[in-house]
Amino acid sequence: MRTGIVTDESFLAHDTGAGHPERADRLRAIYGWIEGRRSSEWIRVPTREASSEELARIHVPEHVERVAATARLPHYAFDADTPVSSRSFEAASRAAGGVLALVDAVMAGEVTNGFAFVRPPGHHAERDRAMGFCLFNNVALAAAHLRAAHGLERVLVVDWDVHHGNGTQHAFYRDPNVLFISSHQYPFYPGTGAAREVGSGEGEGFTLNLPFPAGYGDAQYVRAFLDVVEPVARRFAPEFLLVSAGFDAHRRDPLAGMQVSEQGFAKLARVLLRVARDVCGNRLVAVLEGGYDLEALTRSVEAVLGEMSGKSLEEAVSAPPGDAADLSLPLEIARHYWRI
Ligand SMILES: [Zn+2]
Repeated sequence: MRTGIVTDESFLAHDTGAGHPERADRLRAIYGWIEGRRSSEWIRVPTREASSEELARIHVPEHVERVAATARLPHYAFDADTPVSSRSFEAASRAAGGVLALVDAVMAGEVTNGFAFVRPPGHHAERDRAMGFCLFNNVALAAAHLRAAHGLERVLVVDWDVHHGNGTQHAFYRDPNVLFISSHQYPFYPGTGAAREVGSGEGEGFTLNLPFPAGYGDAQYVRAFLDVVEPVARRFAPEFLLVSAGFDAHRRDPLAGMQVSEQGFAKLARVLLRVARDVCGNRLVAVLEGGYDLEALTRSVEAVLGEMSGKSLEEAVSAPPGDAADLSLPLEIARHYWRI
């Protein structure tokens, strides 16, 4: 399989200040590892800036204008977690546009799948508000782009970042065309993501939350993906699969309390890649969200990119031994709406 990757020096210019975990060094570590490979196994997809029309598919114009206005300020903070610099608007526009370009490349058949190594991250960004290190919701914008520009009817977003993707959930909460599935530590930042949050109106059932207590690792995550995420995803039969791929559920991560390893992330990726192979011609794009330990981040990216090559797609995925995950409520909800 041909995997497209998105990298851009402009993402490094988004300066969050000294001591902030969401820092340019995260991407420097990933880009350094990619350069060190000196290989042609990935196809670079150039970034572009997302247009105001594209941003308006998810965000209100006032929000876009507020982020744009920070380009004229030396420093600004949307909240205590979300400081920006004068280059942050450009970085955020290119992060969103880079993900759109990668999605376009997959749709055009130029690449089979892809991974966008972007920052700022996006899944906490709401329609009208920056929060949680996020300015524009890269994954939500990609899902909206697939609907509006490519005419797809069913897009699946799986979010395995350790934090709940509140912005993505809210963007499609009443929308049956975008199924949002999130596994996350709970209760935890940002506070949303209870299992009972299932969508509303026509979108009821098209939000599926897997709230996990701190301490879950490969055994529980892989079990949850095999028992809940995979069967629901197959039943939905998406035409495109987007992954909010944060790596802050890694056992080394300083912000959260999960125990996932890079091999665990590889297994989660394999489950999703197999769904994509079977139902949508391999069309899958992963977008970087969190992940704040540089070594864990780089190793996890390596593991997931290895899976995206397709070399181990036929190998069985099994959960390592360990305590069972408590999936009773998500399973009950999944059975109710999806008859798995
Ligand atoms: Zn996170």
